[in-house]
Amino acid sequence: MLYLQNSQLGITKPFEVVYETISRDSKNYYILDLRDVTEEIKREKEKIKVSLLYTLISDLMKIILEETNKQEIFKKVVERFTAEGRYKYACIHLRDSRKNIVRSGEPGIYSICLNISSKEPYVFIISKDEEFYPAEVQIISNFLEEFAKVMDTFTFYERLKRISLYDPLTGLPVRNFFVGVLEDLINDARKKKEKVVVVAMDIDNFTTINSLYGYSIGDRVLKEVADRLKQVVRLDDFLARVGSDTFVVAFKTKKVSPAVNSLISRILAKFVNPIILNSHDIPITFSIGVAVFPDNEESSERLLADATQAMFEAKKLGGNTVVFYTKKSKEVEESFILRKELIKALENKEFILYFQPKISLKDKKIVGAEALIRWKKGDTLVPPYKFIPILEESGLINEVGLWVIEEACNRIRDWRKKGIDIEIAVNLSPVQLRSSKFISYIIQKLEEHPQEVRNFGVEITETAIMENISIVSVFLKSLTELGIKIYIDDFGTGYSSIAYLKNLPVYAIKIDVDFVKDIHEDQKDYEIVKTIINLAKSLNLKTVAEGVEREEHERILTKLGCNYAQGYYYSPPVPAEKFEEIYKKFTKKFSSEINKM
Ligand code: C2E
Ligand code: CA
Ligand code: CA
Repeated sequence: MLYLQNSQLGITKPFEVVYETISRDSKNYYILDLRDVTEEIKREKEKIKVSLLYTLISDLMKIILEETNKQEIFKKVVERFTAEGRYKYACIHLRDSRKNIVRSGEPGIYSICLNISSKEPYVFIISKDEEFYPAEVQIISNFLEEFAKVMDTFTFYERLKRISLYDPLTGLPVRNFFVGVLEDLINDARKKKEKVVVVAMDIDNFTTINSLYGYSIGDRVLKEVADRLKQVVRLDDFLARVGSDTFVVAFKTKKVSPAVNSLISRILAKFVNPIILNSHDIPITFSIGVAVFPDNEESSERLLADATQAMFEAKKLGGNTVVFYTKKSKEVEESFILRKELIKALENKEFILYFQPKISLKDKKIVGAEALIRWKKGDTLVPPYKFIPILEESGLINEVGLWVIEEACNRIRDWRKKGIDIEIAVNLSPVQLRSSKFISYIIQKLEEHPQEVRNFGVEITETAIMENISIVSVFLKSLTELGIKIYIDDFGTGYSSIAYLKNLPVYAIKIDVDFVKDIHEDQKDYEIVKTIINLAKSLNLKTVAEGVEREEHERILTKLGCNYAQGYYYSPPVPAEKFEEIYKKFTKKFSSEINKM
């Protein structure tokens, strides 16, 4: 290529040069063919620009869908457009005012201004030192149209539906997605008189892998297990990750036993060799549970629950084994009766909330309370471990959960009037977080109490979060926007990925009773608690110790820098009136101690 300059016009243009020699009549002729390629070069440049722009926009769409704060979204959009010198300047502001302006960079020579046709009208200005290509403007306009739609679908439920159904760590479908597909498989099998097999596989001793090698190796193990399982399953099998270290396969078949046997031998063959990471040999075995439609349950949720229960049986047998689900008829009958009683209990308002104080270790003040449900069945008070699993199994937990929230908000209001201005935290069960419908009910319920939510907290176990990370992370962001504090319950008992935790808007970690109760005599527990507290500090999170039963516990925890404590040493969970008395006593004790100083 050659650049030629026209000195009269003062312009330089690119030319393609073809040079040929022709001999005729023993003379040599030279032919110089010049072709102006200005347009071609421009089109080439445009193509590159456009493909880069597509990459930028697909990244932006992901960011926009995951972020719920409007101002943050604007900030990220302008920053991305100006990053790496793509554009010199980008800016978003309301159409008729320059208030709330968000911008990045300094204006260049050429600018375009485009409307964002969301309900609240904004404009988007972008600028650089060269002319805009028509295709470029078109792509940016298309993006702004999508962008406007996202801005207008700000309701929580709509956002959830847009969120990915895949687990970011392993790339496998998540539980919700699996349950939906399983439902389809069951319906199809019903018509064709086929069977549906659900095989749940839990990695044996995964908690040990995590504590021996650390969470980041734990993550890599999960990823490698997922990759190997992907090679094991056949095209029509549906593989998903339904829990922290639980994977599940579902498929249709006419002959159950041969199909299951074949799957299991393929799994065994794939895991003959250990996983090798950082020169550690990590052997992998599974506890496997199998449930079959229509021999076991009919609904997808229940069928998965059966497979999971069989898997737990396999765990109890020491792991590395397979158990087929069989109904234990007596147990089933009992839980059926209990289920009926629980439906009545809800109608008859037989549930009550007990409250257990959370104490600040710095100044020994009551700063909050955990709401714990009780069932007043005649004269007896039934503890939650006896009925919560049945509420969860039957789906009743959602209704009861909404009642708990309502009751806690009423309590916040009532106590505030009485001068008890503290936070109340409720427990949310993993089942409540499995369905986006139930999650949106929770948000709706909380939005009915705008005055109370600033004193509201939720406790969620790490396993419940990990089970459905993409939906739950949006949920947690929405809670934070409402001013609600988030506690990770039973920390250390399940599997959690610190990498995820770091990115979630968590306020505090609750250290499980099991680690705290022997902290004064068990060196290992002491070390674990110390590690959790330090880890929390490094992530800028507060810590709450559960199960504080002795003065020694308090002393050790204070020394380790734990922020809050909860346990029988201060008070067991008590009814609201009793809590008020305890609160008064604490405030008195506190002020008399201050007076003594
Ligand atoms: P959790 O969230 O881990 O609650 C703490 C449990 O530890 C409570 O048992 C509490 O009574 C007990 N505890 C408190 N202090 C001490 C202590 O010093 N030592 C010992 N050993 N234990 C102590 P509770 O009330 O029986 O609740 C058991 C579980 O039931 C809760 O565990 C929570 O997961 C669930 N739960 C309770 N209420 C609700 C609710 O409203 N909704 C849901 N979804 N789950 C609930
Ligand atoms: Ca709790
Ligand atoms: Ca707990």
